[in-house]
Amino acid sequence: MDKKRKSNNKGGSVVASLFGNVRPKTVIISVLAVIALTGIIIVGYILGYMISYTNGDVAIDLNEYQANQSQTSIIYAYDENGEIFELQRLHGDENRIYVSLDEIPKHLQNAFIALEDARFPNHKGVDWIRFVAVFVKDKLSTGGSSITQQLVKNITGEREANFVRKFHEICNALNLEKNFDKDEILEAYLNTLYLGSGCYGVKTACEKYFGKDVSEINIAEAACIASITKAPYTYNPLVNPEKNRERQVGECLDAMLDEGYITQAEYDEAVAYKMVFTNSPEYVADEEEVEEESTQNEIWSFYVDFVVDTLVDEFMTEYDMSERQATQKIYYGGLQIYAALDVAAQEVLDDVYTNRRTFPDESRKDVQSQSAMTIMDYSGRVIAICGEAGEKSGNRCLNRAADSPRQPGSSIKPLSTYAPAIEEKLVTWSTRIQDKAFAYNGSLWPKNYTGDKGTGAYVTVQNALARSLNTVPARIVYNTLGLKKSYGYLVNSFNISTTVEKYDVAPAPLATGAMRYGITTLEMAAAYAAFGNGGKYYEPYCYYKVTNSDGSIVYFDNASAEGKQIIGEDTADIMCELLQSVTTDSVGTGKPYKISGFQTMAKTGTTSDDYDRWFVGGTPYYVAAVWYGYDLNKTVSNVSGNPSGKIFKKVMDKIHEDLPDKEFPKSSIVSEKKYCRVTGLIAGSNCYSIGTGWYSLKNMPLTCTSCSGGHKPDNDTGNDNEVTTNAEPETTVGFIDVPEVFEEIIPDIPNGTE
Ligand SMILES: [Zn+2]
Repeated sequence: MDKKRKSNNKGGSVVASLFGNVRPKTVIISVLAVIALTGIIIVGYILGYMISYTNGDVAIDLNEYQANQSQTSIIYAYDENGEIFELQRLHGDENRIYVSLDEIPKHLQNAFIALEDARFPNHKGVDWIRFVAVFVKDKLSTGGSSITQQLVKNITGEREANFVRKFHEICNALNLEKNFDKDEILEAYLNTLYLGSGCYGVKTACEKYFGKDVSEINIAEAACIASITKAPYTYNPLVNPEKNRERQVGECLDAMLDEGYITQAEYDEAVAYKMVFTNSPEYVADEEEVEEESTQNEIWSFYVDFVVDTLVDEFMTEYDMSERQATQKIYYGGLQIYAALDVAAQEVLDDVYTNRRTFPDESRKDVQSQSAMTIMDYSGRVIAICGEAGEKSGNRCLNRAADSPRQPGSSIKPLSTYAPAIEEKLVTWSTRIQDKAFAYNGSLWPKNYTGDKGTGAYVTVQNALARSLNTVPARIVYNTLGLKKSYGYLVNSFNISTTVEKYDVAPAPLATGAMRYGITTLEMAAAYAAFGNGGKYYEPYCYYKVTNSDGSIVYFDNASAEGKQIIGEDTADIMCELLQSVTTDSVGTGKPYKISGFQTMAKTGTTSDDYDRWFVGGTPYYVAAVWYGYDLNKTVSNVSGNPSGKIFKKVMDKIHEDLPDKEFPKSSIVSEKKYCRVTGLIAGSNCYSIGTGWYSLKNMPLTCTSCSGGHKPDNDTGNDNEVTTNAEPETTVGFIDVPEVFEEIIPDIPNGTE
């Protein structure tokens, strides 16, 4: 306590020593002097800062701003004659199209100058006379800002009314004028200012309000547009035409006349001009503008969504951008995107998917079923995509086709089992394998989708695939190919990215498609493409090229994308024939869904409890994958056949309607041969039950010599599954030796999938 008091006393004595012996008048003068001096120092500091800021580095770079923020990107597509056309302009909430100053009529430029900043041509960024006048009257009101200051506000987005912000705005305006000429500033201003109804810049505003290009705007219309700036809602001519009229005539045209921008005659003509807005009864739109207008509020097709989503990913990975930066770049970076869609095919797909009657009318109305489909050609081009059943609900909504992996059921077998086993020369078309569940994890596994655990008959690979048996691929994956190898093909060759090693390197995921997450229709279609193009994998793409607005920078180019040979041509061709038998064999599960007039390879898929229904198929032209089910697992019930197969046929039949005949390519290293149904070997002269299959010249089975000839069992109907013999084949080719007990314990093996 003592110490503190002591120190206080000491402080008091200091004051006393300063002022104690002088008169009060002198004290006041001294205080005022200190205040004045402080004021001078502060003002001096502020001025110094202002001057150094004005003359310092470029604070706002208009060129960079123009390049990155202000231009609407456009997606182009090609019509059936290869002619390019504008498919979609991209804009988020803002609709902007950058237009250069020489494309903006002089009277439109002058309308803004006369109304907003009459001394713009002469001041150095700030109209001090007007600024001080307004400041005194109105303190920090937004009035009194020069065009340059308004541009700063538009670019920085800082609109708060406080002294610090105003000071910064002035510094930036002075700096802008130091670094850019009046034309550049005016151009940026006319392209960035908000003009109501979601329009940024004069070009979109002219289209919105008059349905005209900015170059066709007359003086009256120019004054109308300029009048919006003060309060974009209040003076919006579509909302409040009378309000806008007051300002257009009473202020803007008057100002233009006063400033000498227009003559009295032009003034009179403009005042007398009958305004016609896009919502006026007299308005007649020409077709091009109607189209333009309609695209602004239109919900994009899934293809456009897909292009945007893909580009966001690509900019993030290739150009190290954040998601926000990438999105901004795509919407406002003035990109020219050349989309790879087939417009007619996408239309067919959209038509089929928009119509809810396409999808089975299920008893539960509370939750609607969903579906997704991807269609590609055989070199990576996605020609059409759709990610929602029914009316599309918005832009960039969930695209199930590309973003929702689903358990594939049996449609995984060609990728994880049959193609790898053929490629590894472990089986051929006619290798005979027993249709029989085996002891696994304490019970017999797997069941076939018909519910049985196999008849015990030996069936060919072709027959097992066509009928979608589970027992046979289970034996192949398990015992012959091995889980690791099977998984390796799935991930490294067929590029399935949604697997989870910890869970999916297991028999049920690999043999029957009961995967942790599953596969998307996009990756499924891309993987199956290898069976129709001689064994190549092409990364799916949805645009040919992406450039900046004048084409001087190419961001992405898919034109030169090359495929990667992932399986041998012979394996691919044999797989193609095997998969075609799914739609041609009398027991094939895809028979009802063959595309009219074209070879059709196909594979069906159904998962446990009927949650997911798949159909993956291809013609010599296109390959497609379809998924049908529910977002949250529910049993697909009350449907006949395979709903995905029906959708596949509906869409693909239409797309193929007018296409010329074409067949799948075939390499010279495969050959069609007769084989012996009893042994699975190439048929010898004494064989009595014979089928036809495709073989690699590099892996030709021996010729059967064990048949005695002339005798055909009474009940041989020609179907492998009904051949009576349960005896093991005498050949070692493709003999699958399955032990009765497996050491590996994997819980929850689903049964009954197809
Ligand atoms: Zn034989």
